[in-house]
Amino acid sequence: MARYTDAVCKKCRREGSKLFLKGERCNTTKCAFDRRSYAPGQHGKSRVKLSEYGLQLRAKQKTKNYYRVSESQFRKYYEEAFRREGVTSDILFEQLELRLDNVAYRMGVGASRAEARQLVSYEMLEVNGKKVNIPSYIVKVGDVIKVRDSKKDNKAIVNSMEANKLKAVPSWMELDKEKMEAKIVRKPVREDVDLEVQENLIVELYSKN
Ligand code: SF4
Repeated sequence: MARYTDAVCKKCRREGSKLFLKGERCNTTKCAFDRRSYAPGQHGKSRVKLSEYGLQLRAKQKTKNYYRVSESQFRKYYEEAFRREGVTSDILFEQLELRLDNVAYRMGVGASRAEARQLVSYEMLEVNGKKVNIPSYIVKVGDVIKVRDSKKDNKAIVNSMEANKLKAVPSWMELDKEKMEAKIVRKPVREDVDLEVQENLIVELYSKN
């Protein structure tokens, strides 16, 4: 029964979609959401009509859980997006996608964002030739992110790159899988993100608070 009560998988069941938080397991028959695609808890199967606030909250929670960032970090990204010129929700997703842990995950370094974050913390990557071990580090267009030469034989890296070799590479980066190196060629936009969420609800939520 343990697999059904997994706290991480409950997030997917709560949000009503697969957030791919557990790496390879997400694509197997062990996926808790595929087995029980209704919310956890006693009333999980009942259809509850959410209020406007409830819908906004769920949109925010879903996005926050997808990127696995804390409430305070998420709010910081929103505030920065609101402050900058442009479409707030686009800038919000741009920042989340350009976090170094997400870039590593998109490269295939780490089976999940959580694992990618751990690998970044373990000093596996460098940006423009300099070691960076801060998962929240925001990369820029033109930056080159690569697995450090001394870490290219690391078992976790080799295994995840192999497991992810067929994974789609976002068009905002150029990835050389042999060299374990990526270059950011443009800023990511909302349409690049494979997450079904109404981003305007997030903006509506925060604009009230
Ligand atoms: Fe768990 Fe992954 Fe399935 Fe989500 S997608 S329920 S994290 S196995």
